[in-house]
Amino acid sequence: MLIRMRSGATESDVDYVTRRVHSLGLSTHVTRGDGQVFISLLGDLSALDYPALEGLRGVESVTNPQRSFRLTSRDFEARDTIVAVENLQIGGEQVVVMAGPCAVESRNQLLETAQQIRESGAQLLRGGAFKPRTSPYSFQGLAEEGLELLAEAREATGLRVVTEVMTSEHVELVGRYADILQIGTRNMQNFMLLSEVGQSGMPVLLKRGMSATVEELLLSAEYIMARGNHRVILCERGIRTFETATRNTLDLAAVPVLKELTHLPVVVDPSHGTGRATLVKPMSRAAVASGADGLLIEVHPDPETALSDGPQSLSPRQFADLMVEVSAVAAAVGRWL
Ligand code: PEP
Ligand code: MN
Repeated sequence: MLIRMRSGATESDVDYVTRRVHSLGLSTHVTRGDGQVFISLLGDLSALDYPALEGLRGVESVTNPQRSFRLTSRDFEARDTIVAVENLQIGGEQVVVMAGPCAVESRNQLLETAQQIRESGAQLLRGGAFKPRTSPYSFQGLAEEGLELLAEAREATGLRVVTEVMTSEHVELVGRYADILQIGTRNMQNFMLLSEVGQSGMPVLLKRGMSATVEELLLSAEYIMARGNHRVILCERGIRTFETATRNTLDLAAVPVLKELTHLPVVVDPSHGTGRATLVKPMSRAAVASGADGLLIEVHPDPETALSDGPQSLSPRQFADLMVEVSAVAAAVGRWL
């Protein structure tokens, strides 16, 4: 169990709380990071009076990871986790940008996009080779041929590659070409697939289920981590609500909420989160201001002809403009792009 102290809590508050906990026959482990103090409680917690602890001087919140998530929690690791992909660090000071088409459609489309997003400052190329489409009659992706094109684009540009894996059987195949395995919103609770990518040891971009709570997202991350793979990056990509003005409701409050609960990096996908190209730049700015560690943005050389997600895709020129504006926001919050 984890007690999070208020940001203004004094050493005497921390002392007071730990003494109270010790008087209950429990031991404590205090961790400090970024001006925050966390007190982990160890021992038999079965008879613990949570509201009483919540009322103690200087206490911000009390969470019990034994009742839900553990390895993902700040109780397990108070400091921010950095997921390294070669020399790229996700979750550090740099805000990383993953950009590219919704789907890999052709060699020209992919290589042109890769070249242009790299010039604008992106670090990772995204693009689906296996596409989870709502209709079986929609373009399903180029499968392994798409993966080969991603590898070629990686070779040509030096960009790292993030791409979706939809089934356990494909983890090995996709892992041969990708630097980061993406788990899509529709598969967030495909527990066999989560265990399989957990086994792979590769970095995983875990997208929030479109109807999933923050706690369910963390429990899915827990499946991956429980297999010994701690290289998990969470992604807020919008949830379903009654609102129809946007494709999904981008839950930006989830970013600081996740930052409180977990040490894992959090990226935001304003493309699926809004479904509309005109909203991608303002929500990217907002995402970075809210503390996101990265952005996932769909870019297509000719969005009008895209085989999937054209209405939310930016042209390379719009993407270049976004990068300039988002850089200014990053600088304002002590980060860089
Ligand atoms: C995608 O990234 O193109 C995608 C299919 O995302 P999601 O799973 O969030 O819908
Ligand atoms: Mn898409």
